[in-house]
Amino acid sequence: MLILKISFKSSLKSMKCRTRTLNQLLGSLLLLLFLQSVTVSHVQAQSINAQSLPSQITRLEPSNWWVGFKDPSFQIMVYGKDIAEYNVSIPSVELNLHEVSTTSNSNYLFLDVSTTTEAVPGTVNIEFEHVGDAKESFSVSYPLLEREANSSNREGFNTQDVIYLITPDRFVNGDQSNDSHPEYVDSFNREDPYGRHGGDIEGIIQRLDYIKDMGFTALWLNPVLENAMDESSYHGYATTDYYKTDPRYGSNELYQTLSKEAKKRGIKLIMDQIMNHSGSNHWWMTDPPSPNWVHYQTEATVGDYQVTNHRRTTLTDPYASEYDTKLFTDGWFVPVMPDLNQGHPLLADYLITNSLWWIEYAGLAGIRHDTHPYVSKEFLTEWTCRVMDEYPSFNIVGEEWGVNPLITAKWQRGGVVPKDFESCLPSLMDFPMQVTLVDALTKKENWDAGWIELYELVSLDYLYPDPMNLVVLPDNHDMERFIQQVGGDLDLFKMGLTYVLTTRGIPQIYYGTEIAMESLPPHGHGEFRRDFPGGWPGDEVNAFEGRGLNAVEAEIQDFSRKLLNWRKDADVVHHGKMMHFAPKHDGVYVFFRFNENESIMVVLNKNESAVSLDMEQMQERLQGYSSGIDVVTGEEYSLDASMKAPPRQALILRLE
Ligand code: CA
Repeated sequence: MLILKISFKSSLKSMKCRTRTLNQLLGSLLLLLFLQSVTVSHVQAQSINAQSLPSQITRLEPSNWWVGFKDPSFQIMVYGKDIAEYNVSIPSVELNLHEVSTTSNSNYLFLDVSTTTEAVPGTVNIEFEHVGDAKESFSVSYPLLEREANSSNREGFNTQDVIYLITPDRFVNGDQSNDSHPEYVDSFNREDPYGRHGGDIEGIIQRLDYIKDMGFTALWLNPVLENAMDESSYHGYATTDYYKTDPRYGSNELYQTLSKEAKKRGIKLIMDQIMNHSGSNHWWMTDPPSPNWVHYQTEATVGDYQVTNHRRTTLTDPYASEYDTKLFTDGWFVPVMPDLNQGHPLLADYLITNSLWWIEYAGLAGIRHDTHPYVSKEFLTEWTCRVMDEYPSFNIVGEEWGVNPLITAKWQRGGVVPKDFESCLPSLMDFPMQVTLVDALTKKENWDAGWIELYELVSLDYLYPDPMNLVVLPDNHDMERFIQQVGGDLDLFKMGLTYVLTTRGIPQIYYGTEIAMESLPPHGHGEFRRDFPGGWPGDEVNAFEGRGLNAVEAEIQDFSRKLLNWRKDADVVHHGKMMHFAPKHDGVYVFFRFNENESIMVVLNKNESAVSLDMEQMQERLQGYSSGIDVVTGEEYSLDASMKAPPRQALILRLE
C-alpha cells in the first residue's frame, strides 16, 4: 500500500500496529477536517511552463508532446478563468484537434489532439478566440519535440536487474538549500519520524556510484512529485501536481538528469506512479472540473468521502455485495487521499497522457504502480495496454498487496486465472512470496510449516502467466525492516537475502537492507524509513564510504555487494529454469537454477548443526557434476554422498 504517515491517516493495516487510542485518532481526524475547511494551504503552484503562458491561462498540461508515437493521440488540459468562453483551433498540419471538451466548470478545456504523420519537431500555435470579445483572443505556442532515438524499443527492467528502492527524503541530503520551501507548510524537521528530513534527488545523483558499485541496476524512488500537504508529506504518495517534481526534492530537470546519470552507470529508472488517488491539497480539489472528478464527492469540497474497505476479494467474489465492491474501488485510500474517478473519460485521458509524458520526458525504464487493484479495471486495461503497446519491452509492476497468488495472478497480462477484464500489466510485486519467505525462515519446521510453505507457495507459479516477471522482495517502505521480520537473526537474514537474489523473478532491495538496517521504536512507517547513515553532513557513520559501520553492518554490506555483483552477470539466474526438492522438515531447502550450460545449487540450512543432504533425491540435477564452488566465499564442496549442508548458512554453489 502506500505509505503512511501519522496514524490517523494510516491504512487499517498500519492502524492496527499503532498505540494511539481511538480517541486520539478521532481527535486528530476532526482537527484535520477543521484545518482543511478553514485554510487553503496548498500552493497555487504554477505549471512548469507557467512563465511562458498568457495571462488567461494558469495551466496547460502537458507543456509539450513528441512526434512519432505509434498512437499519436493525447490530451491537453487547459485551466484558466472562464477559459471555456474561448473557441479553440489549431491551424496546423502537424497537430490535429479532434474535439474540445468542456465540463460544468467553465475554467477548464480539454483538447483531444493527435500529431499527424507529417509532424516534425517544432512548435504549433493553439489559437483561443473569445466568443464575445475578439480583442481577448490569444494564442499559445506548443512544442512538439523529437523523441529519443529508439524510444519505443527501450528496455524495461527485467530479470537481469536488481531494483534498489529509495525513500528520497531519507537517503542523502545533497542540497541543504531545498530542505524547506517558503511556499510549503511542511518543512524540515529531522527530529520527527514523519517530518521532512531533507533528502533529495541531488543526493541520489551524488551517490549513484555507490548504488552501481553495490551491484544494483535499477532504481525505484518513492514518488517525487509535488506533495503540498500540511504534514507528513515526505513519503510522496499524496500528489498535488502531476507535472511537477516537489522543489524539496529538486525539479523536473534534475529528475531528468538523475535518469541520464543513472543510465550512464547502467542503472534503469523506475517511476512510482499513482493513478488511484491524489492528495487532498491537489490544486484541482478546490476547483474540480466536475463534481464527479473524485469518487464519493458531491460538492467541490473536501470531506464528503468514504474510505475504502480494502476488501480486494470483492472484485472476484461471487457472493460480494455491490456495496462492498464499490467501496473497495471507489473509497478513498485515506482521508487525505481523494479517490480519483478514472471512469470520467477526461480524467482517464489526463492520467494516461501524464504517464506517457513522464516515460518519454524522463527516459523511464519502468513504472511501479501504487495501489493497483484499487483502480477501476476498465481504466487499468486502457492505461496498461496503451503504455505496453507503445513500449513493448517496457515494464510496469503493480502493487497488489494480497498474500494469495490467486488474488495477485489475475492482474498479470495473459493469464490462467479467470477474469472479466483484459490486463496488459507485465509484472506484480510478489507479496505472497514476501510473507511466505518470512514464515519459512522463522517458523519451527514441521510437515506443514517452515520451508515447506515456501516450497508450496512457489508451486502455485502455474497460476501466473509469467512468474519470472514478478518482483520479489525481502521488505519495502511499508513494512518492518527485514532484519526485524526475522527476529534480528543475521543467519536467517542472509538466507532470506540469498533466496530473493537467486529465485525466479526480479529482486527489489529497500535502501538500508544492504547493511541490515533496523527500524527504530516505535516501529511506525516513519521509522521504517530511517535516514541512511552517511547521507547527512556530520553523520558519524557513513555507509557509502564504509566508515563507522558496526561489524554486522559491514559484514552484510560486503555480503550484499558480492552477491549482487555476482548476480549481475549470472545468466543462469536471469534466464535459467528452476527446480526445487521437497524439504523433509529437517530445516533444509535446496533448489537449482539451470540452463543448458550451467547450473547453480542453492542450499539453505536453518539448523544449528550440519545436515546430510539426500543426494539421491537430487540426482536428476547433479548428474555430470562433482563439485560446487560457493559464489560468495569461493569455498569448494564435494557433491558426493557425504555432502552436508553447513549449519545456519546459505550456499550458492556453481556446479563444476
Ligand atoms: Ca535537501
